[in-house]
Amino acid sequence: MYLYNSLSHKKELFTPNSGNEVKMYTCGPTVYHFAHIGNLRTYIMEDVLEKSLNYLGYHVTRAMNITDVGHLSSDADTGEDKMLKGAKREHKTVMEVAQYYTDAFFADCDKLNIKRPEIIQPATGCISEFIEIVSGLLDKGYAYVAGGNVYFDTSKLEKYYVFNDHDEEDLAVGVREGVEEDTNKKNKNDFVLWFTKSKFEDQALKWDSPWGVGYPGWHIECSGISMKYLGEYLDIHCGGIDNAFPHHTNEIAQSESYLGHKWCNYWFHVHHLNNETGKMSKSKGEFLTVSLLESKGYDPMAYRLFCLQSHYRRNLVFSWENLENAAGAYQKLISKIAALKEEGEVDEAVFAQLKERFCNALNGDLNTSLAVTALYDVLKAKTNDATKLAALSDFDRVLSLNLISAAEAVRKKAEEEKAASADPEIDALVAARTEAKKAKNFAEADRIRDELKARGIEIIDTPQGTKWKKV
Ligand code: AMP
Ligand code: ZN
Repeated sequence: MYLYNSLSHKKELFTPNSGNEVKMYTCGPTVYHFAHIGNLRTYIMEDVLEKSLNYLGYHVTRAMNITDVGHLSSDADTGEDKMLKGAKREHKTVMEVAQYYTDAFFADCDKLNIKRPEIIQPATGCISEFIEIVSGLLDKGYAYVAGGNVYFDTSKLEKYYVFNDHDEEDLAVGVREGVEEDTNKKNKNDFVLWFTKSKFEDQALKWDSPWGVGYPGWHIECSGISMKYLGEYLDIHCGGIDNAFPHHTNEIAQSESYLGHKWCNYWFHVHHLNNETGKMSKSKGEFLTVSLLESKGYDPMAYRLFCLQSHYRRNLVFSWENLENAAGAYQKLISKIAALKEEGEVDEAVFAQLKERFCNALNGDLNTSLAVTALYDVLKAKTNDATKLAALSDFDRVLSLNLISAAEAVRKKAEEEKAASADPEIDALVAARTEAKKAKNFAEADRIRDELKARGIEIIDTPQGTKWKKV
């Protein structure tokens, strides 16, 4: 599989450290509010990546953190703690807020068929691991204590900006929001590894540490959780493009300084979902959630298809019109599948050809829009329905669009509607009229038509035969 690697700024052949075993890490949500559909775009594309790797023959072990401490309103260590902000807003404890929004996040993931990573770890459960890394960094001279906090010293690195081809707008996101200067820092880019109460008196969650009672910085949690569950060598690390700087840049700085060797080989960044006015935000304008889409009558699968139709390395613009188009496409796709019949034997040669096209799409830097096109290729293929259904079901292991179950539901509904409107007496009258017409007994045919009309039944003659409906 070829994947674009943000570290080398190139598409590279993906080669895990150890055979087919892939160690994958995903930055999880900050659980102070609902996830917006922009956040969920990132999780959908990471889900497709994991499923594609498994589909293509790798075995993926994936870990994800839940940020329930340490993420300040600016990614650059300034401003209020996001979790504390959520707790104040809702008059709850930080842990109650964390639990509520963690559950809400996974409920949204379920609706969008985003599989839960094998390992899910809230940051508050790994404090001792973070303390160990911070101690190690201090011992090795990569960190210093100032004003009660522990900072990473970026001047000790040969190269700090590892993702410097990113869009400046995206790079600036984290830093732009914070205006306060932290005078404890030796260098502008130094970042906090451990905060103590000397800086944040009102922090609700605090733990003992060699540097005083306090709490970890945001970046250290991903390094700590990843190393705890996936070891010292990571194959692929994912996140939204805004995470490239400073979050992932800082993760690399601290992890490699601590370990003394390269930590992660591939960096997979999903570009943003924007709305027509710009960046999607949890605090500004209409807060777009999966529940909001549902309340407006959209199937979450329409949103998943909308995301799959575009490449993960392109910004995607959300509008209701765009979503409406995706919903229409989804409905059409499903009704075409519903019309297929479980007939014939699977033609293995055709199946293999169709699969090859699909695999090529995934292998080419996770080209999901081509993978979706491969679905239409299946529907158009010159082969029997059994082969088509087998291919669609196989591809849906990656795309997770409920192709087969949604088509089954459409078929069932149509049958139920048919059964509900069945009326043997009317059917018999309609048949008698057809016979009368055949026998050129038009007077009788008209009499039956009038009788049916009087009973509120309208007759429709079509090339496929006579149909009727209640009017
Ligand atoms: P957060 O809950 O803020 O920590 O973000 C969760 C994930 O969503 C991170 O990987 C972010 O990079 C990603 N993200 C944030 N905003 C967007 C957006 N508008 N479009 C796509 N991904 C986003
Ligand atoms: Zn992270």
